[in-house]
Amino acid sequence: MKVAIGGFSHETNTFNRIPTTRTSFIEPPGRTWQGDAMWPALHGGHPVLSGFHEAATSAGLEVLPTFYAAANPTTGTITADALDWIAEGLLTRIRAAQPDAVLLDLHGAGTSERETDAEAWILARVREVVGPNVALVVVNDPHGNLGFPWLDYVDATIAYKKIPHSDMHERGIEAALLLARILRREVIVSAAMTKPPVMVKSGLMTMSEASLMLIKPPMYWLTGRAYEMEHEQHVLNVSVNVGFGDADTPETGISIVVHTSGQPRLASELAQELGRLAWDLRRGFDTRLVMLAPQAAVERALSTPNWPVILADEGNNTAGGSPGDGTVILAELKSHGWPEAALFIRDAGAVAQCFTAGIGAAIELEVGGKLEPSNGSPVHLAGRIQTLTAGQADLEGLGTTSGRAALVKCGNTDLILTEFPTRQTAPTHYRRFGVEPRLKRIIVVQSAHVFRHEWDTVEHLPRSIIEVDTPGITSPSAREFDYVRVPRPIYPLDDFEWDPTDPNVIMARPSRPTSKSP
Ligand SMILES: [Zn+2]
Repeated sequence: MKVAIGGFSHETNTFNRIPTTRTSFIEPPGRTWQGDAMWPALHGGHPVLSGFHEAATSAGLEVLPTFYAAANPTTGTITADALDWIAEGLLTRIRAAQPDAVLLDLHGAGTSERETDAEAWILARVREVVGPNVALVVVNDPHGNLGFPWLDYVDATIAYKKIPHSDMHERGIEAALLLARILRREVIVSAAMTKPPVMVKSGLMTMSEASLMLIKPPMYWLTGRAYEMEHEQHVLNVSVNVGFGDADTPETGISIVVHTSGQPRLASELAQELGRLAWDLRRGFDTRLVMLAPQAAVERALSTPNWPVILADEGNNTAGGSPGDGTVILAELKSHGWPEAALFIRDAGAVAQCFTAGIGAAIELEVGGKLEPSNGSPVHLAGRIQTLTAGQADLEGLGTTSGRAALVKCGNTDLILTEFPTRQTAPTHYRRFGVEPRLKRIIVVQSAHVFRHEWDTVEHLPRSIIEVDTPGITSPSAREFDYVRVPRPIYPLDDFEWDPTDPNVIMARPSRPTSKSP
């Protein structure tokens, strides 16, 4: 039997004013693979797609690559043209493949200027093309803002359980194995979804088991309970989608999805239980309880005898939609006399000036704060150019690139200027530019939580982590943003009571009449 594999990924921060265009998907750091060009991704180049391929092949299915497009989350709303182009690419190839089943990798927080739930719109059209009897299983990112229509189109949708996402490959395998069971008619999948009215923004989405987390975040408890439920009889998958509060859409918010084997009522009950737990834990998502202001953060980091200290630049998180030129922490470091610290700023103009001046030159620059008004003002600084780098491709094994880069030394602070936005999600990202983070007192990461896996769980490098309440479009303080499309009431914008047993807040879909005879 033939299984078509494809996907589409963009986590759309609707507060980012720069549109995400067709070019954002085609040119690096975006990536698009069509037909046979998908094979390297299926053979290990992409964690979810290779999981699909590995498990589908082992189940005796013939894999047909179709279309996959992803754009970096450093630009905002997807244009209608780009979404049409993606749908066309995917649908044309799925139609031509005439598959018995479909596996899709869809982020879930894609928003276009025309469709707020871009993936649901794509799923509807895929279902139209393949008809009601072709099994369709999706892997989604738990930062997806899933709406109820998803369940109308898919047999199952399975989210990563870890944030940072260290289990993408396993979820790809899980989805393909479930698809194979559906095709063999071993299971008939029921689904239920509930959406507790809680919106979570930026760094509070962490589902960390990292050593430094003594107080576990709400997602730790929610996902822990989901794991337990998966051991119960008839339960196939329980996914907790924390959602993406950086998107102002009608679908924004947590969603809980439960799949059982032919037990729609059980699916509803479990979804309801997790919905209630999410609601009960909602105050754990309150930024005012867990963040430090920039000045206090730098002072605390400088006064501690235990270092390195990581300062997580929450408002300037390039994985959450920031263009990566936030200067608030840079300005604090300057006003503290350039201490032993290291940080990245995206500023293509400053990089060009450094290349003109050359290695070893003393230089004065106006750095950052040019692309997003809430990211702080440009910082005037004087430093010496230490190194120039032609281009660091493939920073994370995902085809992302810094472009040209310059290391500028200001006092004891190492400032790495890059042409494109980067994320410092691993210590190696500093080392590639000649900076050893263990020797620094302060390390800044333009990352809300993704950095925790490599820095903390793998390398045990920081002695402490401070989440800094910086301004910028990825600031976790939802109350500071003007939302016009999110469903109201919603926590933390509104103060209200919620009844998790209200039948209007849960949607159960009985078993799908899938699929073709084996
Ligand atoms: Zn994610």
